[in-house]
Amino acid sequence: MNKRSRSSLTPLMQQYREIKSKYQDCLLFFRLGDFYELFYDDAVIASRELDLVLTTRDKGKQNPVPMCGVPWFTAEQYIEKLVEKGYRVALCEQVEDPALAKGLVRREVVRVYTPGTFVSGTGDTVLPVVASLCLHHKRYGLAWCNLLTGDIVATEFEIESFNRTLLDTWHMIQAKEFLLPEQWGRDHQQRLQELGIHPPAWGSVPAWAIDEEYAHEMICRTFRVMTCDAFDLTTHVSARMAVGMLLHYLEERDAHLLETLNHPRFLHVQDRLILDMVTIRNLELFQNARDGGARGTLFSVINKTLTPMGKRLLQDWLLKPLVHIETIEERLDAVEAFYRAPNVLDTIRDHLKTIPDIERVCTRIQIHTATPPDLLRLRNALKPLPSLWTALRQLESKGLLRSLQNVHYLGEDVAETLDKALVDEPPVSIRDGGVFREGYDRELDELRSIAQSSKTLLARIEKRERERTGIPNLRVKYNKVFGYFIEVTKSYLHRVPDSYERRQTLTNAERFITPELKNLEEKILTAEERALKREQELYQELMYELSRKVSVLRELSRFVALIDVLQSLALTALKNRYVRPRVIDSDVLEIHGGRHPVIEVLQKEKPFIPNDIQLNQREKQILVITGPNMGGKSTYLRQTALICILAQMGSFVPADAATIGVVDRVFTRVGASDFLAQGQSTFMVEMLETAYILHHATPKSLIVLDEIGRGTSTFDGLAIAWAVLEYIHEKWNPGPRTLFATHFHELVHLAKMYSRIHNLSVLVKETEDGVLFLYQVVSGPCDQSYGVHVAQLAGLPEQVVQRAHTLLKQLGHLEDQLQETLGNIRGTRPPALFAQKKQAHKTFPYLVQKTLLDFDPSYQLSRKMLRELSELDLESMRPIDAWHYLEDLQKKVRSVLAHEKVPNRKKRS
Ligand code: ATP
Repeated sequence: MNKRSRSSLTPLMQQYREIKSKYQDCLLFFRLGDFYELFYDDAVIASRELDLVLTTRDKGKQNPVPMCGVPWFTAEQYIEKLVEKGYRVALCEQVEDPALAKGLVRREVVRVYTPGTFVSGTGDTVLPVVASLCLHHKRYGLAWCNLLTGDIVATEFEIESFNRTLLDTWHMIQAKEFLLPEQWGRDHQQRLQELGIHPPAWGSVPAWAIDEEYAHEMICRTFRVMTCDAFDLTTHVSARMAVGMLLHYLEERDAHLLETLNHPRFLHVQDRLILDMVTIRNLELFQNARDGGARGTLFSVINKTLTPMGKRLLQDWLLKPLVHIETIEERLDAVEAFYRAPNVLDTIRDHLKTIPDIERVCTRIQIHTATPPDLLRLRNALKPLPSLWTALRQLESKGLLRSLQNVHYLGEDVAETLDKALVDEPPVSIRDGGVFREGYDRELDELRSIAQSSKTLLARIEKRERERTGIPNLRVKYNKVFGYFIEVTKSYLHRVPDSYERRQTLTNAERFITPELKNLEEKILTAEERALKREQELYQELMYELSRKVSVLRELSRFVALIDVLQSLALTALKNRYVRPRVIDSDVLEIHGGRHPVIEVLQKEKPFIPNDIQLNQREKQILVITGPNMGGKSTYLRQTALICILAQMGSFVPADAATIGVVDRVFTRVGASDFLAQGQSTFMVEMLETAYILHHATPKSLIVLDEIGRGTSTFDGLAIAWAVLEYIHEKWNPGPRTLFATHFHELVHLAKMYSRIHNLSVLVKETEDGVLFLYQVVSGPCDQSYGVHVAQLAGLPEQVVQRAHTLLKQLGHLEDQLQETLGNIRGTRPPALFAQKKQAHKTFPYLVQKTLLDFDPSYQLSRKMLRELSELDLESMRPIDAWHYLEDLQKKVRSVLAHEKVPNRKKRS
């Protein structure tokens, strides 16, 4: 903001500055008549972000004020865009009638919109979720609430597991705003950012409001209870304090926000199948790896929901699959009921199509921002519900459906009230009136009829006066300054009767009033004004009545969301030929005819080849999959992980049959990606992800490792991949079910050394035209990579391909030597990897390195020199002898170095 002395400011700008000083962290939307204006830096930001024209106020003056604005009735859509980008917006209204105000109209900020608390009317891009974090007695408390669903959830964890648990939980929350204790300052915020936590906005809560007693008080007051026992928040003090932070923050923003919340819940993180952020990304559950869009994601395949609530719930199910068999079975039973009745499914889909976002309207009713079009949406949403309920009852009563069918439809009275109240196309705001139907309220009808009949009287007066005066173009008109008046053009002024009282002279006409006209004007205006006032009263009453019904409406919304998700999963199963999986509490993972849910849909030109898989913790714990590039290894790995996730979220799966022993976490290390911005190279990311998996997996986890050790030198990579496999085999018994795809063919030897490691390979056929990919996964190792063939397919220049073939043949002897060495390692492999940890770690890389260096002449020479050097008797040497020795040594070293440079020199010539 420009530095201008207060005295040089107009009273209006002084008022602006005063208000703005209290809302420094917000963009201030300042109401001026029919516009919201932004000034100074706010205007610069808003014009840039919203593509608005930046103008100036006080143009002629020395320091004109930058300014931009939006019409008041469009403000919400602009605010939504700003909030989506992480800004906070303070809405400053005129809080007294400008017509009645003496001097400057009083203005106040009536609402602050933030990314986590903004509930827009229609959009579903911004999910209003706020999270809070605090630390108490070495335990972190984390809470979050979603203002659309009203869910408020809390959890807590030990200080030692901070990074891991926070990250695991964070991606489930999808918070748009993250609150930290004020005293933590920017350091903590930075630490969290380094961890990968990037909410659109940060917020803070003062230290005094992060207190166990205060949290207890807030919870009891908000939810009208005596204790926190029922919410499991009495003993979980850190979680309770985090909930307290949230409630405090919401109350500060707008006390009505608290009304949107359901009772809080304590979440035991281990109640869900945990998918970490890397896995969600690697498996492309919601965003594809290509451009971050939705195409080609698992969600895009299974999402056949028709309502915004259904879509949100399906996202939630996919993000947080279950681990308890009974609850998974309940969902599967319900999906099956839909699956078995395709006709009913169709009918239900027809009804769902017409249902808009009930949750959104509910929240807007509670925070007093619902507009007449919101209420119209609610009315439209409720209409198809009775028929939806009737259709639902035709389904077999199974699982979750049983509880749904027993629910009585409770929205009738609300639908009836809205039907009676609202006109078919209400205006965007109650300010303009015309929202209520005729017959809804007697007083309103009377006022409207007075205004209406008076208007007919005006028309009659106009007609009568034209006849009486003989002025054919005499007109009765209205404007805000003079009210109703008679307008006569200059050419007929001589016919104006004396009883007309002159009010205004225009270039071509004169304006007059008469006592009769003034009388009528009073009647009309007061009737219209009173009608508008009455409408506003009625609207308040209606909102109050609706807010009392919100809990019922929310319940209805939840049912609709559930029905929508179930039908979506059933339809996907029907369309894509999925089967119901058998989900059991065991270590088995058996899939027959499994398919990749996304590739089978996207790949139209060739059929998808199904494959089987068998894993268990005791005998077939680790599958090492080798095979040519492009052979289908990654696809096989991913489809297995996706099938497990689908099964545990309660969905049918793309297979002929599947038995899934419940997994507690799915870990993936897939493909290459780097975070150069965070100073991490491709290989570093690969190692970080691998380290994370090895530290956090449990025997019940599913581990998917695709190409470990690829981002470094062949032997380093092979060594690491080998050691990782040994680790997974030896650390646990029974151990986590693991799929390991690799191009290191040397690793197939591990199956001979470790009882629970097995080899699989993908089949190819060599034909005259090249390699034919069969995409069949079979037992046993594969002997070749066919990398050069794939390079040829990709269109590398012919010379490159030919040269690669030649080099490949020449390098063949290295392979033979390596195989021999590996034979030795196999002989030396001790069963006690963990008992002799240090030894094992040292031996293997050394051996591999040795095989490589044995071929190197310069290496042989340097060994010799080193040996000589170590045997030198310095005590008996004269300085001149030492000098000669050194000179000699230098020569040898130079010759070795020159020897190494030879190929380069050749290349240049
Ligand atoms: P690389 O080793 O080069 O990473 P890969 O063996 O992991 O290759 P994938 O990426 O799994 O191979 O598969 C390559 C392509 O082959 C897929 O994009 C898909 O088009 C096709 N494909 C894979 N599996 C199948 C299958 N079972 N049926 C039909 N097509 C398949």
